[in-house]
Amino acid sequence: MSQSVTIEHLISTSKRRDTSYMNIILFGAPGAGKGTQAVELVKNYHLTHISTGEMFRNAIANQTAMGKVANSYITKGELVPDEVTVGLVKERLAQEDCKNGFILDGFPRTLHQARCLDKLCLELNIQLDFVIDIEVPMNALMERLSGRRVCKVCGASYHILFNQPKVAGECDICHGPLYTRKDDNKESVAVRLNTYQEQTKPLIEYYKNKGILLEINGQQEINDVFQDIVNKIGVNL
Ligand code: ADP
Ligand code: ADP
Ligand code: ZN
Repeated sequence: MSQSVTIEHLISTSKRRDTSYMNIILFGAPGAGKGTQAVELVKNYHLTHISTGEMFRNAIANQTAMGKVANSYITKGELVPDEVTVGLVKERLAQEDCKNGFILDGFPRTLHQARCLDKLCLELNIQLDFVIDIEVPMNALMERLSGRRVCKVCGASYHILFNQPKVAGECDICHGPLYTRKDDNKESVAVRLNTYQEQTKPLIEYYKNKGILLEINGQQEINDVFQDIVNKIGVNL
């Protein structure tokens, strides 16, 4: 059992295990493998996947007012302002499909967002079960992000070396075309990794103190990372 999960949390989690749903935060640096693991977790536990990055990219593609605001930050590799991001998540978590469990992928990313999420959970009567921290050393992330290819239709992540699609340039899941994200260039990635270190990484302590953090070695084969997550969740349920 991870030492970061407290007995009190285990008792309160197991008390409502008969409802067999889970609310998870997927945490980690850009390129750690959050999106990749989310796809498998969704399949395994039938959870609703909420990726703030994906929601912003959809808003940009649809040229909404929020998309226009978000675009100016995302292309530079900066975080979208908290009030925009928190508003988006607030609306999303209140929707019906979140009632049977969800995965938050890429949120929260600042201490302020984490505190807002706590408040939101109280309002909506939601309990956060686990924060899964996928740990990958900084020096491996640049290669992951520069080789990342993403499905234009469903958002699934591939890699030109580490996770190739069955057919080149085509998504295994939905056959959509793969593309390179505009913010996966050297300059934006450098800003994003820096932002992660300064603003997002401190949340590890925040969730460790709450007793709900599971630490996962993200530098293993994709399937092994997944098995590790499943095992740790299983032990801690
Ligand atoms: P990555 O896969 O590299 O971690 P995401 O797809 O999660 O990236 O996010 C892409 C971009 O969207 C981020 O660099 C940031 O500009 C914006 N974004 C996503 N989530 C948040 C958030 N919680 N707070 C602020 N900005 C966010
Ligand atoms: P995040 O959502 O955390 O930004 P992704 O899931 O998009 O990260 O993964 C980033 C890149 O690294 C993608 O190209 C993905 O195929 C690749 N990747 C994910 N997990 C692994 C892994 N365990 N080993 C090697 N490459 C990986
Ligand atoms: Zn797809």
